[in-house]
Amino acid sequence: MQPFTGNFTQQEPIPEEAIAAAVAVMRGGRLHRYNTGEGEIAPAARLEEAFAAYQGARYCLACASGGYALSVSLRAAGVTPGDRVLTNGFTLAPVPGAIAAVGAEPVLVEITRDLVIDLDHLERRIDETGARVLMLSHMRGHLADMDALTALTAARGVTLIEDCAHTMGARWDGRPSGGFGLAGCFSTQTYKHVNSGEGGLLTSDDPEFMARAIMLSGSYMLYERHRAAPPPETFATIRLETPNMSGRMDNLRAAILLPQLNALDANAARWNARHDAIAERLAGVDGLYLPHRPAKEAYVASSIQFLAPGLSPEACTDFVARMKAVGVELKWFGAAEPSAFTSNHHSWRYVPAQDLPNTDAILGTLFDMRLPLTFSVEDCRHIADLIAAGMTRP
Ligand SMILES: *Cc1c(COP(=O)(O)O)cnc(C)c1O
Repeated sequence: MQPFTGNFTQQEPIPEEAIAAAVAVMRGGRLHRYNTGEGEIAPAARLEEAFAAYQGARYCLACASGGYALSVSLRAAGVTPGDRVLTNGFTLAPVPGAIAAVGAEPVLVEITRDLVIDLDHLERRIDETGARVLMLSHMRGHLADMDALTALTAARGVTLIEDCAHTMGARWDGRPSGGFGLAGCFSTQTYKHVNSGEGGLLTSDDPEFMARAIMLSGSYMLYERHRAAPPPETFATIRLETPNMSGRMDNLRAAILLPQLNALDANAARWNARHDAIAERLAGVDGLYLPHRPAKEAYVASSIQFLAPGLSPEACTDFVARMKAVGVELKWFGAAEPSAFTSNHHSWRYVPAQDLPNTDAILGTLFDMRLPLTFSVEDCRHIADLIAAGMTRP
């Protein structure tokens, strides 16, 4: 079989319409979101309005990064230093990082082999620690059973904040991810579902929460220029009590993102065609387990994950090397040392060490692969054949 020669980190170009919008912002020189002419609506404010409408959320705030959206949401939710915040034991570093940024302590929760939070363990950890906030990471685009999860958080009085860095455009039973709790946090960084280099979006239906988030993001006293924001009365005391921790999005990024929002659903279908082509092929390979996708989950699979439960750590290292030799870039979450974007909870040394035997066993043979839209469905079939061959002929 021919090796694969595609580039796993090459995204599609920015659409021409977005490039034209960016050039127009630069020609105007008004890149700061509050630098508007008479009657002008800043692209940042229009982006917030458009994303709130897309999500069916009342409010939206555009900010500097997904990680910033996460930490600002904790602060705006009233989390203070020393508080405990529950989160998945399997997520990427910006999530425990956002919890650490507000001086809080991550309480890690086990995952299942379907790569979602383990609801039984979540319930135990809530009861053991008294933690009142859950930062739920929809890691690698897998949604937990949101009916059961929200029933549990409601019953225990736990505030839910969703990390939707990998689920922009995804739904559970028709409802967009990010719309199940107090807040939804999204990233518009290059490797996510829309691309402005860096950037983040925060959504909520709660007026006081959003007023605090807007003030935190560095609104000065210009919050009335926001359009997907609560009315000015909501800010009456909040504006004087809330510190400015600048993390705004600028008009250039917003202009690039607006046209990309319109393409999000079409791109979700393109990602899923690529993912499903690989998943179908790998489902027939002995020794591999593909996470189950419930009927209520409408995913946006910009990456694919599979477990190889029989493999030793040495066999996993060897498998990654053999795949690399034929041009297939796999990430393995079981490695002892973090590499590039891949890390596991043992390498977050600023978090008190926690015992997660199930998560460790799952990560021990978990492989992950990006699926950029620059790959064709045919490319994906080729990649799947190479993986299947590498698995069956060690
Ligand atoms: C990318 C990412 C974020 C936030 O990303 P930024 O790089 O700060 O925009 C948050 N959570 C997860 C799981 C991510 O992959």
